[in-house]
Amino acid sequence: TELSKIRNFSIIAHIDHGKSTLADRLIQRTGGLSDREMSAQVLDNMEIEKERGITIKAQTVRLEWKGHVLNLMDTPGHVDFAYEVSRSLAACEGALLVVDAAQGVEAQTLANVYQSIEHDHEIIPVINKIDLPAAEPERVKAEIEDLIGLDTSHAVLASAKAGIGIEEILDTVVERIPAPKGDADAPLKAMLVDSWYDPYLGVVILVRVIDGTLKKGQQIKFMNAGTTHLVDRVGCFRPKIEQLTDLGPGEIGFITAQIKEVAQTAVGDTITDAKRPAAEAVPGFKEVQPVVFCGLFPVDANDFEKLRESISKLRLNDASFSFEMETSAALGFGFRCGFLGLLHLEIIQERLTREYDLDLITTAPSVVYEIELTHPDPAGVTKIDLHNPADMPDPNKIASISEPWIEATIYVPDEYLGSILKLCQDRRGIQKNLTYVSGRAQATYELPLNEVVFDFYDRLKSLSKGYASFDYEQIGYREGDLVKMSILVNEEPVDALSMIVHRGTAEVRGRGMVERLKELIPRHMFKIPIQAAIGGKVIARETISAMRKDVTAKCYGGDATRKRKLLEKQKKGKAKMREYGSVSIPQEAFIAALRMG
Ligand code: GDP
Ligand code: MG
Repeated sequence: TELSKIRNFSIIAHIDHGKSTLADRLIQRTGGLSDREMSAQVLDNMEIEKERGITIKAQTVRLEWKGHVLNLMDTPGHVDFAYEVSRSLAACEGALLVVDAAQGVEAQTLANVYQSIEHDHEIIPVINKIDLPAAEPERVKAEIEDLIGLDTSHAVLASAKAGIGIEEILDTVVERIPAPKGDADAPLKAMLVDSWYDPYLGVVILVRVIDGTLKKGQQIKFMNAGTTHLVDRVGCFRPKIEQLTDLGPGEIGFITAQIKEVAQTAVGDTITDAKRPAAEAVPGFKEVQPVVFCGLFPVDANDFEKLRESISKLRLNDASFSFEMETSAALGFGFRCGFLGLLHLEIIQERLTREYDLDLITTAPSVVYEIELTHPDPAGVTKIDLHNPADMPDPNKIASISEPWIEATIYVPDEYLGSILKLCQDRRGIQKNLTYVSGRAQATYELPLNEVVFDFYDRLKSLSKGYASFDYEQIGYREGDLVKMSILVNEEPVDALSMIVHRGTAEVRGRGMVERLKELIPRHMFKIPIQAAIGGKVIARETISAMRKDVTAKCYGGDATRKRKLLEKQKKGKAKMREYGSVSIPQEAFIAALRMG
């Protein structure tokens, strides 16, 4: 395709503002799909994505509109996948900024729009959901001008759901978004935007060609990975797969090259011609590293092999999560897994449970700590990355511990501000900025990542009745007064529940933990002490009293049905219990205990 006829754009929006619905409409209007095929949202194609209403993998579709080729890139919608978002944006010249006409600008919108501006995008505001009675398009336009400084005179008022404004959006894209630049005669230079595993095609790679031409049968080289491959397919999605002979400068499409694992295809890598390579790689390449770690153990020890196979299969399609075998005194064999964030963790855990039918115990999520040792260890190392609180060295050998910090942007209506500020304070937050615009506050805080990975987001949402939004980026490591807190049940340490905490909050955390465990662990025939300890020092304790011989008689008097139900429940629960020094802990207790009150 001629460069002047190409338009590459993405859609940026806060979750639920209508990005997927609009994308589907654009596909439908340009003839990519029949009405029947439209019944399901096409861009969000994973079940979990559909349920959670967020996009996890970027997808792109090629649309034809009035003699132009429009490449629409759908970007992931969550902070955990910020790097993928940045590469998708780098592949485009413009963006549709979709804002819900009833909700207005949210934190995620802001974060993405600033990135879009950094990529020099031409931004077209789309005020969506104007069909809603609560829609206030003029107020939202003013907000976009005030907050982002964008001219909204060419904004499109739309309803993706009702199909209003769709043609106007397509016309505006052609009119306003600049055509890509590129040199057809230069050596091939293309950016690897995304990749995923397809059972029929193998690894499918989404690319944006910058210079030169990418052809079927071409020998290509990945500049960062240093590997070479033979291109066996070139094509695009409409959204159905269409094979092409080549992709020229400015074009977005896919290739396959008989690659077996997505781990070989790093997002952001530069693809060039093996024989006539480009002089320089595309800037901005970054290796993504997992930031949140936890142990995954099968409830039934016999499921270990099944867990290994399932994790390996998932990893085929997601190179950003890592795993290695781990043994725990109490939980037996399992895996230590690394994730981009808590949502990523939940997605993997959910897929293992749902698609592979595994019952799992998840241990306390932890960030990666940097530990400076007082003396080199036998291998001569003085600095270690700690992924697992269980591996914490003897405190006498530690010179310092550092933890990762983030800068968070929180956007919240005034009325909830007080409780949100308190939440940040409780989580060791340092306020950097606080501004008010049209009845809302924007707070910027520096926070330890460790304080955020637990249930910060859930708390934020519940304290603000869902109105607060949150976005963050990592800002590096800082030394902290950090200690390992162990939990002992019946004098036995439960390694799955040990965690690294700040000394100043240890007592509160320890107290909360033992109190919750007291509620969660069923009574036994004997008294069970539950303790939180730092080193040898107990900082909180509770005791579960022994139960009488006939528990049901005591609890429920003579009610026979309730008694039977309780017994049945206990029987069912049996399989999902874990023994700790002759104490049974139900599986749910682990997850519940990790939530902070
Ligand atoms: P995304 O998270 O930005 O991809 O949002 P979705 O496209 O999944 O839409 C979120 C919700 O808003 C869904 O329930 C849609 O049906 C609804 N929605 C999207 N566009 C409109 C619109 O123009 N009007 C109304 N009333 N609802 C819409
Ligand atoms: Mg969506």
